[in-house]
Amino acid sequence: MSTMPEPHRALDCDGAFARLFDFLDKELDAATESALLAHVQHCRSCFDQAEFERRFKAAVAESRSAQRCPDALRQRVIALLGPQREAT
Ligand SMILES: [Zn+2]
Repeated sequence: MSTMPEPHRALDCDGAFARLFDFLDKELDAATESALLAHVQHCRSCFDQAEFERRFKAAVAESRSAQRCPDALRQRVIALLGPQREAT
């Protein structure tokens, strides 16, 4: 689903998704990071995805530091992602 082209939007959705995990891991250079943020701010579907990934990573990091198994979290994530994405 394409929207109006915007001159400052350097990434399309595929490019944004491809860089999302690097962004969350803080492995992007400043230019790529700002391009990703610019896209996400104008693209609702990427914004929703980015919010989900960020919360998921934050929750995982929390549960890791708490040294406990995040069963409830994992079940919610599995439900969100679908049965084909189940891991571990
Ligand atoms: Zn997008």
